[in-house]
Amino acid sequence: RAKADLVHSICFYEQSMDETVRARRTLTADLKEAIEKDQLDIHYQVQTSVATGEIRGFEALLRWKHPERGHISPMEFIPLAEESGLILPLGEWVLRTACSRAANWQPAYKVSINISPVQFVHADLPRLIDEILKETGLQPARLELELTESTIFADKERSFAMLRQIKELGVSIALDDFGTGYSSLETLRSFPFDKIKLDRSFMGEAETSPQAKAIIRAVLALGKSLEIPVLAEGIETQGQLSLLSAEGCDEAQGYLLGRPVPLFNIIESGQVKLATIALPDAIACPNG
Ligand code: C2E
Ligand code: MG
Ligand code: MG
Ligand code: MG
Repeated sequence: RAKADLVHSICFYEQSMDETVRARRTLTADLKEAIEKDQLDIHYQVQTSVATGEIRGFEALLRWKHPERGHISPMEFIPLAEESGLILPLGEWVLRTACSRAANWQPAYKVSINISPVQFVHADLPRLIDEILKETGLQPARLELELTESTIFADKERSFAMLRQIKELGVSIALDDFGTGYSSLETLRSFPFDKIKLDRSFMGEAETSPQAKAIIRAVLALGKSLEIPVLAEGIETQGQLSLLSAEGCDEAQGYLLGRPVPLFNIIESGQVKLATIALPDAIACPNG
């Protein structure tokens, strides 16, 4: 009886594994098609100065509307893209598209683009970025790449050499999701990041938990002493924003300040003014 149960559950386990594998394969094939058929989209989320409320720039966030399943989160499809290698053409598309859009914004605003660890290992990023900057005419100082600690963790020597090459182009580097990685302090000490993005998990409890508040304060103090500006992610309430303001945080990003929206919306709302009307693609392609 017990043995039969065990056999039964193993079969069941294998069967559901099969289904998971099959579902992932289907979704990966769909993603490949989505790339070929141009079904992907980039949304932009505003990043603002805490002290003045001024817009500093926008983070580019990939969006996929599946023809049958509707919106699929990047948390679900980015890992599939990474496993299948699709992240390479996809990441290149995001870089090229977001840079060419940003080149047409008023010059005060930056664009921040997430870079996957796989791109970091397999794409010749310094060359690719140099090429895209030249092609789009975007000033290097207006491009910021967001990397997580796990990206750097695998091979620190190589990572830092590559980051240095990218910084030599004039592009800045932000450390994303700070506080969730393994070796935060050591990573910060050994590389001149241009920005620390404090993970949004700390903001959720900022107003209720003294511990969360203490961590936020400590990271802000660390940023100050290393002279690296800190951006707090996931700001959803006025209370959180006031706290950050009182603690001297540099920048903030979150639903309170603006959700990620299509480019068309930030232009229409007047948040972004186009530098020139000679380049029509940002208007002609409202979902870019
Ligand atoms: P991330 O880079 O840390 O991006 C911030 C995420 O937090 C975004 O989720 C954003 O929509 C969400 N967010 C912003 N403000 C708030 C808030 O106030 N509350 C809450 N609850 N969430 C907020 P999203 O767009 O689902 O992206 C998830 C992750 O997927 C990103 O995390 C990034 O790691 C990855 N991703 C997105 N686009 C790209 C891309 O083009 N390339 C790569 N490699 N990864 C990407
Ligand atoms: Mg990011
Ligand atoms: Mg983040
Ligand atoms: Mg993240």
